[in-house]
Amino acid sequence: MLILMKADATDADVETVCARIRELGFAPNRIPGKTRVAIGITGNPGAIDPAIFARLPGIAEAVAVSRPWKLVSREVKPDDTVITLPGAGGTDVVIGGGRFVVMAGPCAVESREQLLTTATAVLEAGAHILRGGAYKPRTSPYAFQGLKEDGIALLAEARAATGGMPIITEVVDTRDVEFVASHADILQVGARNMQNFALLEAVGSTRRPVMLKRGMSATIQELLMAAEYIVSKGNYQVMLCERGIRTFEPMTRNTLDLGAIPVIKRLTHLPVIVDPSHGTGDYRSVPALARAAVAVGADGLMVEVHPDPARALSDGPQSLTPANFARLMTSVRAIADVVGLRL
Ligand code: PEP
Ligand code: MN
Repeated sequence: MLILMKADATDADVETVCARIRELGFAPNRIPGKTRVAIGITGNPGAIDPAIFARLPGIAEAVAVSRPWKLVSREVKPDDTVITLPGAGGTDVVIGGGRFVVMAGPCAVESREQLLTTATAVLEAGAHILRGGAYKPRTSPYAFQGLKEDGIALLAEARAATGGMPIITEVVDTRDVEFVASHADILQVGARNMQNFALLEAVGSTRRPVMLKRGMSATIQELLMAAEYIVSKGNYQVMLCERGIRTFEPMTRNTLDLGAIPVIKRLTHLPVIVDPSHGTGDYRSVPALARAAVAVGADGLMVEVHPDPARALSDGPQSLTPANFARLMTSVRAIADVVGLRL
């Protein structure tokens, strides 16, 4: 159920409605809107009778929400979610709402030199956010697992060295959420953890923006339900990421599901980022899919870049050199111009 308040409803009216919802044993979720406040009700096992609310002051309408995901749905919040972060050189980085954002950097943080070289190069080429994994979820227990705390420290150093380029990094364990959230600007939840509900609740309890990657065999509905876990904990700063799904096709690492983007944009107000690196697994395919992502209506890109891909400790085959990344940015800008997006 969604309660739409009248435009002139007072804070006291909103509080009265929230108190009544709590009295019924459910959770009120205030949804910030451009013109008026809406209150989403969660925690109710079945339908609620709208008549319960009919006589409370300030209510315009009580509407049933037909979808199993509620707080992330466009039905509940028609306006795009816009996430704003302080960026390099004091300019804000804006994610969502008609802007296009580019996150780039190595798959894994490997050393100070590797990270700082990449950070400087991607910033110079026009990237807004630096990516780099410090805690790496690897298929093999013998593969490089990341520099962990030392990697986080290097990311913080790279942010300082670039004049404040925001950093995004993956958190894989609930026990690390507080530590990672105290350093990173955006928390990444990886494909393998999309339905790690304890982790979703833990990042939902922080007030750091979160990027939730689609699981490799997750439906759009499952992705939205996973995002609902985060938002239902009170963290509205969530973006989604399409990074390819597993299909019968072995010639690409994953099948980048660009057809999901317009569907996701219709169903939810959350920004959606496309990751053509994991989506294709091959650096030669990344620029073409990056251009396609802009054209199809994504809100941004996440691209893996490494100064020496042949020597990368993870995902070298899909990593672009800084020079290739700079070329990608030029062609992405051209498409952004055509579709009227601001980069
Ligand atoms: C990554 O971004 O490096 C990563 C591990 O991605 P995914 O979770 O999509 O596999
Ligand atoms: Mn990777």
